[in-house]
Amino acid sequence: MSKKRSLKDRIKSLESEKKITCTSSDCKNGLHCFKPDLRKKVNNSAGKCRSCQVDAPFDWERIHKCDSGDIEYIVAALKNELIRKHYWTNEIPEKVQNYARRKGTVKMKEAIEKRIRKYIAPPEGKYDGRQTPGETSNQPNAVHFAQHGTASCCRKCAEYWYGIPRDRHMTEAEIDYLTKLGMRYIGERFPLLTEGGEYIPPIRKKKSKKSEDRSNDD
Ligand SMILES: [Zn+2]
Ligand SMILES: [Zn+2]
Repeated sequence: MSKKRSLKDRIKSLESEKKITCTSSDCKNGLHCFKPDLRKKVNNSAGKCRSCQVDAPFDWERIHKCDSGDIEYIVAALKNELIRKHYWTNEIPEKVQNYARRKGTVKMKEAIEKRIRKYIAPPEGKYDGRQTPGETSNQPNAVHFAQHGTASCCRKCAEYWYGIPRDRHMTEAEIDYLTKLGMRYIGERFPLLTEGGEYIPPIRKKKSKKSEDRSNDD
C-alpha cells in the first residue's frame, strides 16, 4: 500500500539523483571503475575495469612509482575512472569554494597533509572507505573533494591506484606524494585561490529566491 509506493518513489529519486559511487562506471563513454571486485576473487582482474574488463588505457607500473614528477600522467590516468572524473568536473558548491578561498594555497596544503596523515596514513581500519565525506554528505570541504579526485580518500583506493599496501602505515614520501596530488587538484579546480587566503563573508540564507524553482527540491 502506502509503503510500496514510498519505496518506489525512493528508487525513482535515487535514479534521478544518479548518485555516483566508487563502483560506478560508464564504460560506453570511456569511464571505468578499476577498483578490484574482491568478492569475485579473480586474481587476474587486477588493473582492469570491474564492469567491462577492459585493460586500463595507461601504465599501472608507471603510476605505482608514486613519482610526483610524473603528476600530469597520473592526473590524466585518474580521469579514466568515473568516480575520479566526476570529482574533476562536478560543480563545486559555493560553500566548498569559500572554504578553499578563505584558506588559500598555503593553508590548503597544510590541511590536505594533516588530513591524509590522520585519516589515510594509518593502516586500513574497520571504517576504511567511510572516512572521507562525499559531495552529497552534509559537510564536504575542498580537502575531501581533492581526496576523492586523487584516490587518497581511503586505503583501498590508494592501494589499487598507487600500489600502497593498505595493511601498513604510509611512509613520509607517500604522504608527501598524496599531498602534492591533492594540491594539483586544488590548482585545477580552484584556480583563483590566493596564497594567504582571503576574507569571504558567510553565505547568507536567502529566503524567497529558491521558491521559484522548487521542482528539484525534495
Ligand atoms: Zn569499463
Ligand atoms: Zn576511496
